[in-house]
Amino acid sequence: MKICIVAGVRPNFVKIAPLYKELSRSKKHQLLIVHTGQHFNNSLSKVFFEQLNIPKPDYYLNVNFGSIASQYSLLLPRLSKVLSAEKPDLVTVVGDANPSFAASLTSALNQIPVAHVEAGYRSMDYRMPEEINRVLTDKLSTLLFAPTGTAKRNLLSEGFSPEQIFFVGNIMIDSLKMFKEKYEKSRIMDRLNLEKKGFCLVTIHRRENVTDQGNLSKIVKIIFEVQKRIKTIFPIHPLTRKKMAEINLLKKIENMENLLLAEPLPYFDFIKLEKESLFVVTDSGGVQEETTYFQKPCLTLRYNTERVETVLKGTNRLVGLEIELVKKYIRKIEKGEWFEGTIPIRWDGETAARIRRILENWSKPVNWLNMLEKGVPIKEIKFDIQWKKFNL
Ligand code: UDP
Repeated sequence: MKICIVAGVRPNFVKIAPLYKELSRSKKHQLLIVHTGQHFNNSLSKVFFEQLNIPKPDYYLNVNFGSIASQYSLLLPRLSKVLSAEKPDLVTVVGDANPSFAASLTSALNQIPVAHVEAGYRSMDYRMPEEINRVLTDKLSTLLFAPTGTAKRNLLSEGFSPEQIFFVGNIMIDSLKMFKEKYEKSRIMDRLNLEKKGFCLVTIHRRENVTDQGNLSKIVKIIFEVQKRIKTIFPIHPLTRKKMAEINLLKKIENMENLLLAEPLPYFDFIKLEKESLFVVTDSGGVQEETTYFQKPCLTLRYNTERVETVLKGTNRLVGLEIELVKKYIRKIEKGEWFEGTIPIRWDGETAARIRRILENWSKPVNWLNMLEKGVPIKEIKFDIQWKKFNL
């Protein structure tokens, strides 16, 4: 089977690393990597390919930052060109960013089945472009690889067939397990002169948080409160930096005495900090999951989450943009009274292996279109149950 793996943003790279490694173990598969280019610079892309041993992409589509609409206007024709040239048997997409929906739509239009890794997450919040991507990507996918029990139930309740849904677990955790030795060796704690549990790690980049001036001002106030209490490390995403600079908030952040503003960190350094911090403040999807795995207190600056297990089972709590709630929770953390977490089922580092086994036993569904493609004379085509079902 020729499998085309599409990725384009930082969290995608973390997810395709174990997937590529595992699928390449199987002699049955020929793998292709398409990098759409949304995250293209060293700190968001190149360093991830290097650290996570992902081979150089076969195709690079060079669709960089821009409005969502302009991204799609370039992604669709460029992806379509690749798919027409390569004719893969399966396109695999991961997560909820624009490259995943663009690739699923282009594949569906080219009659190519799609596998979605991280299917079924739902925040029910359609203000998030990610939620729109999740719902539509699932709709266009043939194989749905669910990370959690809730994600599987969401898919079933939306009417997907149980045969399409595979509860394989969370592939982010595969990377955490796979690269444990590497991130444990990171020297970032010494470089930044940090002590275990002596600092807080902050990441912010969700569009609804950073493109709304009111929200961004609230976030800056929250960060100010955090660094008043504990040394704070803030590797800032380029979108957040840009938006803060536009409304003169970047200076405020730069002037905070107990805060270290950094470029986005390489994966090993970031994970090391996540693991050794006292707590994390974030709006990232992946970071909510990783902190649950490390059983690390996590304050999520959102009012909802699609990663419900991180709150119900894990150490994550939603604080919205409510400064009083942040203060209350920090006091709890300081007193060592944080909620005990457990690790959700199948977040065990075996997700990519489960996907490999499923794909080894899977073959492309034979429909009348690909029979025509193989040159079967029209009169020999037997219309299958789908026709009977609709009584045509
Ligand atoms: N990450 C990183 N360096 C950073 C910030 C995040 O390596 O400076 C990693 C983080 O550990 C996680 C992933 O990037 O594996 C999450 O990506 P992001 O927050 O951009 O996307 P989301 O998960 O919200 O879609």
